[in-house]
Amino acid sequence: MIDTSTPTIVTPQVLLTSHLKTLKLPTFAREYEKVGIECAHEDIDYPRYLLRLCELECIDRQRRNTERRIRLAKFPITKSLDTFDFTAIPGLNKSLVLELMRCEWIDKRENIIALGPSGVGKTHTALALGLAACQKGMSVAFTTAAALVHELMEARDERRLRVLQKKLTNVKLLIIDELGYVPFTAVGAELLFEVFSRRYEHAATMVTSNLPFDEWTSVLGSERLTGALLDRLTHHVHILEMNGESYRLATSKKRQKQTMQSKPSEENIKPK
Ligand code: ADP
Ligand code: MG
Repeated sequence: MIDTSTPTIVTPQVLLTSHLKTLKLPTFAREYEKVGIECAHEDIDYPRYLLRLCELECIDRQRRNTERRIRLAKFPITKSLDTFDFTAIPGLNKSLVLELMRCEWIDKRENIIALGPSGVGKTHTALALGLAACQKGMSVAFTTAAALVHELMEARDERRLRVLQKKLTNVKLLIIDELGYVPFTAVGAELLFEVFSRRYEHAATMVTSNLPFDEWTSVLGSERLTGALLDRLTHHVHILEMNGESYRLATSKKRQKQTMQSKPSEENIKPK
């Protein structure tokens, strides 16, 4: 039986909160009262009041979307160029890196290959470019070559390769880090080749490697496959030559030197 003795009073605030939830406007719901009071104090009219709320919602939505893209990209850590010291690697074309941070190359479906020995900042640069792409509203996936091949093989064994291939083809920027450390089996190399082949002129890819091109056969196995892969990857490419001393090594050397200098010399600690 329906109880009609005490009619439930739904305040406009409750209804408004519910509608704003349905319309997916959380910032509106959170801020409308506070902004309303501010606007009343400042004698601001209704259109401007609504405009203020819309602007807050837009800013918040953009931030939420960027955060979601960063989560989906699966970066091992977030790094940006703010913490990158270009003076540590004078051989790197700084203006090219800054230009690439604008992400136009991604819209043009071009590629980047960062080459250099261990510790020179290849991963750091890739992470910074990936972050910039997320901030520009692009979908990004970050992986290492070894993890990607492993994932492809696993998907093939579990008969879900198609789904994975589709995902890998459609992401706007695919970053494949560390090509060169682990050699692949013939099947692994072919599956990796297929990823490049599907993305060719379709979407942007960034690869980092410690190996010069003429040594890529050592990880991919077949010379024919390496040639075909490089042909596709390097057709529209920006190459970041990152030759220099390992940043890790340089900073630990510096630290050691500082510790040595701060220690009192043996002369001074000898008893007189
Ligand atoms: P790589 O991928 O070339 O092996 P990383 O990008 O992993 O090198 O760099 C190793 C470490 O040194 C990371 O912590 C990275 O942030 C830092 N690093 C490398 N180069 C620079 C640089 N030029 N400025 C600031 N930090 C750097
Ligand atoms: Mg690296």
